[in-house]
This record gives sequence, structure tokens and C-alpha cells, in this order.
Amino acid sequence: MLDRIRIVLIGTSHPGNIGGTARAMHNMGLTDLALVAPRCTPVTADSVSRASGADHLVNAAPVVDTLEQAVADCTLVVGASARSRTLPWPMITPRGLGEQLPGELATSEARVALVFGREDSGLTNAELQRCHAHVHIPTNPDFSSLNLAAAVQVLAYECRLAWLARREAQSEEPTPPLATHAELEHYFAHLERTLIAIGFHDPAMPRQLMARLRRFTLRARPERMELNILRGILSDTEKLVPQRDDGPA
Ligand code: SAH
Repeated sequence: MLDRIRIVLIGTSHPGNIGGTARAMHNMGLTDLALVAPRCTPVTADSVSRASGADHLVNAAPVVDTLEQAVADCTLVVGASARSRTLPWPMITPRGLGEQLPGELATSEARVALVFGREDSGLTNAELQRCHAHVHIPTNPDFSSLNLAAAVQVLAYECRLAWLARREAQSEEPTPPLATHAELEHYFAHLERTLIAIGFHDPAMPRQLMARLRRFTLRARPERMELNILRGILSDTEKLVPQRDDGPA
């Protein structure tokens, strides 16, 4: 899933931001970087230093002239924008974007592009209108614009969270069956019988005992097997109680 998410930087002017982007991507397991008409040389001492070991992503990044070329094979294109524009466009949150990714990337041909703008002027309206949706990272409205590589970091993190959640869901052990209502009722009847037999519970003076034990047990949502253990304990307890002729059945 992560290797089919492309980070597209348009018109970047600081090599350090390209290196910082590569580092953010590599930290989160993203590999696909594309540069559209950068206004600087992508590989410099500055970008290598900011990449801090992830500069292979910069070296491998194709440099193209237009956004169209960078996202031609993508099935979903999302533009990251620091501010709202004149023409309202479908907006998604960073978390919402992450949640959408597993579905979007379900087939092997699917590709998602996350597009980031220039440090000084962001994305143009024409570029924003080539995106299916816009994502805004919630920030202080009085100071809403993040550093380019920091914005990439936030969205790359959401991609990773979504990927981890999907991986966890896929590897989850099948959940053991919970006790049914009928099994719980049999247990409560057995419990009450045993508590009376050992003299702990007096039905003539119930003091909400059974109600409290019910509330406690139901809150725990016991599994069938856990309830079977408890019933086994009750059966063995009953065996230790001397049988009385006038005692409860
Ligand atoms: N001064 C520019 C912002 C440039 S920041 C402007 O006002 O538009 C460089 C890029 O980082 C932006 O184009 C955008 O892609 C991304 N970015 C910065 N802050 C962001 C935010 N709060 N939400 C989403 N993307 C953001």
C-alpha cells in the first residue's frame, strides 16, 4: 500500500525541503517521490544533509515539467493546501485521508498522489482544480502554513497509521466466542445456588447481591470458555458442601 502513494512536490525552491521531504517519507515507509519543475537543484549538500540518509529517494525522484505528467497514472490526486481558496472543493482531513487509503489502494493498479505546493505561494488554483480533493492540516488559523517538509511529515504519518491499522486488522486472531444470554443465565442460576449452599447468600435478605454480581459479570463481557471455568469452580465448590435434605436443589 505505501509504495503506491506518491509524494509530488511542485516548484520547490529550497533543496533542504526536498531532503527533509525524503527523510519524512523514508521514516514513514513511503518511497515514491516526484518533483515538478523544481526551482532549485534537487541534489545539493543541503538536501543530502536534511535527508540524513534518505537521499536515495531524491536521487531516484523523476523530475518532470508539469503536474499532469507527475500524476498521469494516479487514480486519486489530493492537493495539500494551507488555506481555503475562492472556489470550494471537496475537503478531507488528514485522518480522513488515511482512512480512505486502504479502500482507494485495494487494487494493484491504484495509485494515490499527495501534491504539495511552493514554499512562497503554495499550489495555484489551476493545480488545485486538477485534484480530486484537498487536504488541510488543521493549524492555528493566524499562522496556518507549515514548512513544506513538515506538511509532508504529517500526511506521511497518517499514511503509516492507516497502513499499520490495516496490517493489524489482517493479522488479528479470530476473537473467541462470547458467552450467550442463555449461558449467562445458567451461570447466574448456578452461582446463586452455590452461594446459598455455602451460606454466603440468604434469599430472604438478598441485599442486591445477585444484581451486583450480575452487573459485575455482564460488564466483563465474559467469553464462553471463561464462563465454563467459573461454572467448573462452582461445581467443585458444591461437591465440598455437605448435602442437606432441606437444602436448595
Ligand atoms: N505560503 C503558502 C504555503 C506554502 S507551504 C500558501 O499560503 O499557500 C508549502 C506547501 O506545504 C503548501 O503548498 C501545502 O502543500 C503544504 N502545507 C503547508 N501548510 C499546510 C497545511 N496547514 N495544510 C495542508 N498543507 C499544508
